[in-house]
Amino acid sequence: MSLDSKDKSRKSAIERLRKRGSLRYDVAVLAKGILSNDVAALSAGITLCESQRTQDQLKAAELLSACSIHATQSIRIGITGVPGVGKSTFIETFGERLIREGHRVAVLAIDPSSQINKGSILGDKTRMERLSKNKDAFIRPSAANSALGGVAARTREAILLCEAAGFDRILVETVGVGQSEIEVRNMVDYFMLLMLAGAGDELQGIKRGIMEMADALVITKVDGDNQGASKRAKKEYQNALHLFPQSEKDWIVQVFLTSALEENGLEFVQENLQDYVSKMNESGWLNGNRKLQETMWFDKLLKEKALELLRSQLNLGSKIDHLQQQVSSGEMHPHVAINELSIALNK
Ligand code: GDP
Repeated sequence: MSLDSKDKSRKSAIERLRKRGSLRYDVAVLAKGILSNDVAALSAGITLCESQRTQDQLKAAELLSACSIHATQSIRIGITGVPGVGKSTFIETFGERLIREGHRVAVLAIDPSSQINKGSILGDKTRMERLSKNKDAFIRPSAANSALGGVAARTREAILLCEAAGFDRILVETVGVGQSEIEVRNMVDYFMLLMLAGAGDELQGIKRGIMEMADALVITKVDGDNQGASKRAKKEYQNALHLFPQSEKDWIVQVFLTSALEENGLEFVQENLQDYVSKMNESGWLNGNRKLQETMWFDKLLKEKALELLRSQLNLGSKIDHLQQQVSSGEMHPHVAINELSIALNK
Protein backbone atom coordinates (compact mmCIF):
# COMPACT_ATOMS: atom_id res chain seq x y z
CA MET A 1 0.00 0.00 0.00
CA SER A 2 1.42 3.43 -0.86
CA LEU A 3 1.90 6.00 1.89
CA ASP A 4 -0.93 8.04 0.44
CA SER A 5 -3.46 5.24 0.45
CA LYS A 6 -2.34 4.12 3.93
CA ASP A 7 -3.00 7.64 5.10
CA LYS A 8 -6.43 7.65 3.43
CA SER A 9 -7.48 4.34 4.95
CA ARG A 10 -6.38 5.45 8.44
CA LYS A 11 -8.31 8.70 8.04
CA SER A 12 -11.42 6.87 6.92
CA ALA A 13 -11.08 4.51 9.93
CA ILE A 14 -11.06 7.59 12.20
CA GLU A 15 -14.02 9.00 10.28
CA ARG A 16 -16.00 5.76 10.69
CA LEU A 17 -15.27 5.65 14.40
CA ARG A 18 -16.23 9.29 14.75
CA LYS A 19 -19.57 8.65 13.04
CA ARG A 20 -20.22 5.79 15.42
CA GLY A 21 -19.37 8.09 18.28
CA SER A 22 -16.70 5.69 19.44
CA LEU A 23 -13.53 7.42 18.35
CA ARG A 24 -12.54 7.82 21.98
CA TYR A 25 -12.42 4.13 22.57
CA ASP A 26 -10.03 2.88 19.94
CA VAL A 27 -6.61 3.55 21.41
CA ALA A 28 -4.63 2.00 18.57
CA VAL A 29 -6.39 4.11 15.91
CA LEU A 30 -6.10 7.23 18.03
CA ALA A 31 -2.41 6.70 18.72
CA LYS A 32 -1.70 6.08 15.05
CA GLY A 33 -3.64 9.19 14.09
CA ILE A 34 -1.89 11.36 16.67
CA LEU A 35 1.55 10.09 15.72
CA SER A 36 0.87 10.95 12.10
CA ASN A 37 -0.09 14.51 13.10
CA ASP A 38 -3.85 14.16 12.60
CA VAL A 39 -5.53 16.95 14.57
CA ALA A 40 -8.94 15.19 14.68
CA ALA A 41 -7.30 12.27 16.45
CA LEU A 42 -5.40 14.69 18.69
CA SER A 43 -8.66 16.42 19.72
CA ALA A 44 -10.33 13.09 20.39
CA GLY A 45 -7.30 11.95 22.41
CA ILE A 46 -7.46 15.04 24.61
CA THR A 47 -11.20 14.52 25.11
CA LEU A 48 -10.51 10.94 26.16
CA CYS A 49 -7.95 12.18 28.72
CA GLU A 50 -10.49 14.65 30.09
CA SER A 51 -13.14 11.97 30.58
CA GLN A 52 -13.84 10.96 34.15
CA ARG A 53 -15.14 7.48 33.34
CA THR A 54 -12.85 4.82 34.78
CA GLN A 55 -12.95 2.89 31.52
CA ASP A 56 -11.85 5.97 29.58
CA GLN A 57 -9.12 6.70 32.09
CA LEU A 58 -7.58 3.28 31.51
CA LYS A 59 -7.67 3.90 27.76
CA ALA A 60 -6.18 7.35 28.29
CA ALA A 61 -3.26 5.87 30.22
CA GLU A 62 -2.69 3.41 27.37
CA LEU A 63 -2.83 6.21 24.83
CA LEU A 64 -0.43 8.38 26.80
CA SER A 65 2.08 5.63 27.13
CA ALA A 66 1.83 4.82 23.40
CA CYS A 67 2.40 8.48 22.61
CA SER A 68 4.98 9.47 25.19
CA ILE A 69 7.79 7.44 23.63
CA HIS A 70 7.32 9.48 20.49
CA ALA A 71 7.04 12.93 22.01
CA THR A 72 9.16 15.46 20.16
CA GLN A 73 11.70 17.71 21.79
CA SER A 74 9.46 20.66 22.49
CA ILE A 75 9.47 23.89 24.42
CA ARG A 76 6.52 24.58 26.70
CA ILE A 77 5.66 28.21 27.24
CA GLY A 78 3.23 29.54 29.84
CA ILE A 79 1.47 32.84 29.13
CA THR A 80 -0.63 34.63 31.70
CA GLY A 81 -2.26 38.00 32.28
CA VAL A 82 -5.55 39.55 33.36
CA PRO A 83 -8.54 39.46 30.96
CA GLY A 84 -8.18 42.15 28.31
CA VAL A 85 -4.39 42.50 28.64
CA GLY A 86 -4.05 41.21 25.07
CA LYS A 87 -3.17 37.54 25.52
CA SER A 88 -5.00 36.15 22.51
CA THR A 89 -3.76 38.95 20.23
CA PHE A 90 -0.20 38.39 21.47
CA ILE A 91 -0.42 34.61 21.10
CA GLU A 92 -1.77 34.93 17.59
CA THR A 93 1.09 37.17 16.44
CA PHE A 94 3.73 35.34 18.46
CA GLY A 95 2.43 31.97 17.25
CA GLU A 96 2.62 33.10 13.63
CA ARG A 97 6.21 34.23 14.17
CA LEU A 98 7.12 30.83 15.60
CA ILE A 99 5.47 29.10 12.63
CA ARG A 100 7.44 31.29 10.21
CA GLU A 101 10.58 30.04 11.98
CA GLY A 102 9.55 26.49 11.09
CA HIS A 103 7.82 25.46 14.30
CA ARG A 104 4.41 23.87 14.80
CA VAL A 105 2.43 25.64 17.50
CA ALA A 106 -0.20 24.26 19.89
CA VAL A 107 -2.18 26.64 22.11
CA LEU A 108 -3.84 25.16 25.19
CA ALA A 109 -6.05 27.73 26.86
CA ILE A 110 -7.12 27.08 30.42
CA ASP A 111 -10.29 28.81 31.48
CA PRO A 112 -10.70 29.01 35.26
CA SER A 113 -13.93 30.99 35.00
CA SER A 114 -15.86 27.98 33.73
CA GLN A 115 -15.30 26.41 37.15
CA ILE A 116 -16.48 29.44 39.07
CA ASN A 117 -19.54 30.66 37.21
CA LYS A 118 -20.03 28.09 34.46
CA GLY A 119 -19.34 30.90 32.04
CA SER A 120 -16.20 31.46 30.11
CA ILE A 121 -13.71 34.26 29.81
CA LEU A 122 -11.74 32.60 27.06
CA GLY A 123 -14.46 30.99 25.02
CA ASP A 124 -16.97 33.78 24.55
CA LYS A 125 -15.30 35.51 21.68
CA THR A 126 -13.69 34.33 18.54
CA ARG A 127 -10.11 34.15 19.53
CA MET A 128 -7.01 33.75 17.42
CA GLU A 129 -8.94 33.47 14.20
CA ARG A 130 -5.92 33.65 11.88
CA LEU A 131 -3.91 31.18 13.91
CA SER A 132 -6.79 28.73 14.12
CA LYS A 133 -6.82 28.54 10.31
CA ASN A 134 -3.09 27.91 10.07
CA LYS A 135 -2.28 24.28 9.26
CA ASP A 136 0.71 24.38 11.60
CA ALA A 137 -1.33 25.51 14.58
CA PHE A 138 -3.67 23.72 16.95
CA ILE A 139 -5.85 25.57 19.45
CA ARG A 140 -7.69 23.87 22.24
CA PRO A 141 -9.56 25.61 25.05
CA SER A 142 -9.83 23.44 28.10
CA ALA A 143 -12.51 23.96 30.67
CA ALA A 144 -11.69 23.90 34.34
CA ASN A 145 -12.59 20.73 36.09
CA SER A 146 -13.16 21.03 39.78
CA ALA A 147 -13.95 17.34 40.14
CA LEU A 148 -10.42 16.47 39.17
CA GLY A 149 -9.00 18.97 41.57
CA GLY A 150 -7.71 21.93 39.72
CA VAL A 151 -7.91 24.37 36.91
CA ALA A 152 -5.47 22.58 34.72
CA ALA A 153 -6.64 19.07 35.50
CA ARG A 154 -5.63 17.47 32.22
CA THR A 155 -3.39 20.05 30.60
CA ARG A 156 -0.24 17.98 31.15
CA GLU A 157 -1.82 15.12 29.25
CA ALA A 158 -2.84 17.50 26.45
CA ILE A 159 0.73 18.84 26.24
CA LEU A 160 2.09 15.34 25.85
CA LEU A 161 -0.37 14.43 23.10
CA CYS A 162 0.31 17.69 21.23
CA GLU A 163 4.02 16.90 21.33
CA ALA A 164 3.37 13.39 20.03
CA ALA A 165 1.41 15.00 17.17
CA GLY A 166 4.52 16.93 16.18
CA PHE A 167 3.81 20.29 17.82
CA ASP A 168 7.11 21.56 19.16
CA ARG A 169 6.08 24.89 20.63
CA ILE A 170 3.32 24.50 23.21
CA LEU A 171 1.74 27.70 24.49
CA VAL A 172 -0.29 27.25 27.66
CA GLU A 173 -2.49 30.26 28.25
CA THR A 174 -4.15 31.07 31.54
CA VAL A 175 -6.06 34.01 32.97
CA GLY A 176 -4.13 35.73 35.73
CA VAL A 177 -6.21 34.96 38.74
CA GLY A 178 -3.83 33.13 41.03
CA GLN A 179 -4.01 29.39 41.52
CA SER A 180 -3.93 28.49 37.84
CA GLU A 181 -0.59 30.28 37.38
CA ILE A 182 1.14 28.11 39.95
CA GLU A 183 -0.18 24.98 38.31
CA VAL A 184 0.83 26.18 34.86
CA ARG A 185 4.27 27.26 36.07
CA ASN A 186 4.78 23.68 37.15
CA MET A 187 4.18 22.31 33.68
CA VAL A 188 6.10 24.70 31.42
CA ASP A 189 9.73 25.58 30.73
CA TYR A 190 9.35 29.35 30.28
CA PHE A 191 6.72 31.56 31.85
CA MET A 192 5.63 34.96 30.53
CA LEU A 193 3.56 37.52 32.38
CA LEU A 194 1.67 39.98 30.15
CA MET A 195 0.93 43.37 31.68
CA LEU A 196 -0.69 46.63 30.77
CA ALA A 197 0.80 50.06 31.30
CA GLY A 198 -1.10 53.20 32.16
CA ALA A 199 -3.74 51.51 34.26
CA GLY A 200 -3.07 53.52 37.41
CA ASP A 201 -0.71 51.99 39.91
CA GLU A 202 1.54 49.78 37.81
CA LEU A 203 1.82 47.01 40.32
CA GLN A 204 -1.83 47.06 41.19
CA GLY A 205 -3.73 43.87 40.64
CA ILE A 206 -0.64 41.85 39.92
CA LYS A 207 0.21 39.48 42.66
CA ARG A 208 3.86 39.77 43.58
CA GLY A 209 4.02 35.98 43.62
CA ILE A 210 3.05 35.76 39.95
CA MET A 211 5.68 38.34 39.03
CA GLU A 212 8.28 36.34 40.91
CA MET A 213 7.45 33.22 38.87
CA ALA A 214 7.94 34.94 35.52
CA ASP A 215 10.91 34.43 33.19
CA ALA A 216 9.89 37.46 31.13
CA LEU A 217 7.58 40.44 31.70
CA VAL A 218 5.83 41.66 28.59
CA ILE A 219 4.09 45.02 28.49
CA THR A 220 1.34 44.90 25.87
CA LYS A 221 -0.37 47.49 23.65
CA VAL A 222 2.68 49.75 23.43
CA ASP A 223 1.35 51.84 20.56
CA GLY A 224 -0.48 55.12 19.99
CA ASP A 225 -0.88 57.22 23.13
CA ASN A 226 0.29 54.41 25.35
CA GLN A 227 4.00 54.66 24.60
CA GLY A 228 5.08 57.14 27.27
CA ALA A 229 3.20 55.34 30.02
CA SER A 230 4.67 52.05 28.84
CA LYS A 231 8.24 53.31 29.11
CA ARG A 232 7.55 54.54 32.65
CA ALA A 233 5.94 51.20 33.53
CA LYS A 234 8.99 49.36 32.20
CA LYS A 235 11.22 51.32 34.60
CA GLU A 236 8.90 50.59 37.52
CA TYR A 237 8.81 46.87 36.76
CA GLN A 238 12.57 46.78 36.36
CA ASN A 239 12.98 48.43 39.76
CA ALA A 240 10.53 45.98 41.32
CA LEU A 241 12.42 43.04 39.80
CA HIS A 242 15.66 44.21 41.44
CA LEU A 243 14.02 43.69 44.82
CA PHE A 244 13.31 40.03 44.15
CA PRO A 245 15.86 37.45 45.24
CA GLN A 246 18.13 36.16 42.47
CA SER A 247 16.64 33.03 40.88
CA GLU A 248 18.49 29.78 41.48
CA LYS A 249 18.63 29.15 37.74
CA ASP A 250 20.73 32.27 37.19
CA TRP A 251 18.44 34.04 34.77
CA ILE A 252 17.91 37.78 34.53
CA VAL A 253 14.25 38.59 33.93
CA GLN A 254 13.75 41.35 31.40
CA VAL A 255 10.83 43.67 30.68
CA PHE A 256 9.70 43.95 27.04
CA LEU A 257 7.63 46.61 25.32
CA THR A 258 5.36 45.10 22.68
CA SER A 259 2.48 45.87 20.38
CA ALA A 260 0.94 42.71 18.97
CA LEU A 261 -1.34 44.79 16.75
CA GLU A 262 1.58 46.62 15.16
CA GLU A 263 3.87 43.59 15.43
CA ASN A 264 6.45 45.52 17.40
CA GLY A 265 8.81 44.19 20.03
CA LEU A 266 7.78 40.55 19.75
CA GLU A 267 11.08 39.72 18.06
CA PHE A 268 12.89 40.58 21.31
CA VAL A 269 10.64 38.26 23.31
CA GLN A 270 11.35 35.54 20.78
CA GLU A 271 15.10 36.14 21.07
CA ASN A 272 14.81 36.05 24.85
CA LEU A 273 13.02 32.70 24.64
CA GLN A 274 15.75 31.24 22.42
CA ASP A 275 18.43 32.60 24.69
CA TYR A 276 16.69 31.12 27.71
CA VAL A 277 16.30 27.71 26.09
CA SER A 278 19.96 27.47 25.09
CA LYS A 279 21.18 28.73 28.45
CA MET A 280 18.91 26.42 30.46
CA ASN A 281 19.79 23.47 28.22
CA GLU A 282 23.46 24.11 28.69
CA SER A 283 23.23 24.36 32.47
CA GLY A 284 21.05 21.22 32.65
CA TRP A 285 18.26 23.19 34.35
CA LEU A 286 15.68 22.42 31.66
CA ASN A 287 16.19 18.70 31.95
CA GLY A 288 16.26 18.74 35.75
CA ASN A 289 13.12 20.85 35.86
CA ARG A 290 11.24 18.48 33.54
CA LYS A 291 12.15 15.58 35.84
CA LEU A 292 10.94 17.52 38.84
CA GLN A 293 7.70 18.30 37.02
CA GLU A 294 7.18 14.60 36.22
CA THR A 295 7.50 13.84 39.94
CA MET A 296 4.94 16.54 40.75
CA TRP A 297 2.65 15.09 38.08
CA PHE A 298 2.95 11.64 39.66
CA ASP A 299 2.22 13.08 43.13
CA LYS A 300 -0.86 14.84 41.81
CA LEU A 301 -2.18 11.68 40.14
CA LEU A 302 -1.42 9.68 43.27
CA LYS A 303 -3.51 12.06 45.40
CA GLU A 304 -6.34 11.90 42.86
CA LYS A 305 -6.26 8.11 42.82
CA ALA A 306 -6.11 7.85 46.62
CA LEU A 307 -9.11 10.15 46.96
CA GLU A 308 -11.01 8.19 44.34
CA LEU A 309 -10.29 4.95 46.21
CA LEU A 310 -11.43 6.44 49.51
CA ARG A 311 -14.60 7.80 47.96
CA SER A 312 -15.78 5.04 45.69
CA GLN A 313 -14.18 1.77 46.74
CA LEU A 314 -14.13 2.38 50.48
CA ASN A 315 -17.45 4.25 50.47
CA LEU A 316 -16.12 7.17 52.44
CA GLY A 317 -17.42 9.88 50.09
CA SER A 318 -20.15 11.24 52.35
CA LYS A 319 -17.89 11.01 55.42
CA ILE A 320 -15.22 13.06 53.61
CA ASP A 321 -17.79 15.66 52.49
CA HIS A 322 -19.15 15.94 56.02
CA LEU A 323 -15.66 16.37 57.54
CA GLN A 324 -14.81 18.95 54.88
CA GLN A 325 -17.92 20.97 55.82
CA GLN A 326 -17.05 20.82 59.50
CA VAL A 327 -13.52 22.01 58.81
CA SER A 328 -14.63 24.86 56.58
CA SER A 329 -17.24 26.06 59.09
CA GLY A 330 -14.56 26.08 61.79
CA GLU A 331 -16.24 23.36 63.87
CA MET A 332 -13.37 20.96 63.52
CA HIS A 333 -9.61 21.22 63.33
CA PRO A 334 -8.16 19.64 60.13
CA HIS A 335 -6.01 17.26 62.19
CA VAL A 336 -9.03 16.05 64.15
CA ALA A 337 -10.92 15.53 60.88
CA ILE A 338 -8.12 13.44 59.39
CA ASN A 339 -7.99 11.45 62.58
CA GLU A 340 -11.72 10.74 62.32
CA LEU A 341 -11.19 9.61 58.76
CA SER A 342 -8.41 7.22 59.85
CA ILE A 343 -10.73 5.75 62.47
CA ALA A 344 -13.49 5.26 59.85
CA LEU A 345 -10.92 3.69 57.53
CA ASN A 346 -9.77 1.18 60.14
CA LYS A 347 -13.29 0.07 61.06
P1 GDP B 1 -7.18 38.84 26.33
O1 GDP B 1 -8.49 38.90 27.00
O2 GDP B 1 -6.06 39.01 27.30
O3 GDP B 1 -6.99 37.63 25.47
O4 GDP B 1 -7.07 40.12 25.36
P2 GDP B 1 -7.33 40.29 23.80
O5 GDP B 1 -6.17 39.78 23.01
O6 GDP B 1 -8.66 39.74 23.47
O7 GDP B 1 -7.33 41.87 23.65
C1 GDP B 1 -8.24 42.71 24.33
C2 GDP B 1 -8.42 43.99 23.52
O8 GDP B 1 -7.18 44.66 23.43
C3 GDP B 1 -8.90 43.73 22.11
O9 GDP B 1 -9.83 44.72 21.78
C4 GDP B 1 -7.64 43.85 21.28
O10 GDP B 1 -7.87 44.30 19.96
C5 GDP B 1 -6.85 44.90 22.07
N1 GDP B 1 -5.40 44.72 21.84
C6 GDP B 1 -4.71 43.57 21.95
N2 GDP B 1 -3.41 43.76 21.63
C7 GDP B 1 -3.28 45.08 21.33
C8 GDP B 1 -2.16 45.90 20.93
O11 GDP B 1 -1.03 45.46 20.77
N3 GDP B 1 -2.43 47.24 20.76
C9 GDP B 1 -3.67 47.78 20.93
N4 GDP B 1 -3.82 49.07 20.74
N5 GDP B 1 -4.73 47.03 21.28
C10 GDP B 1 -4.55 45.69 21.48
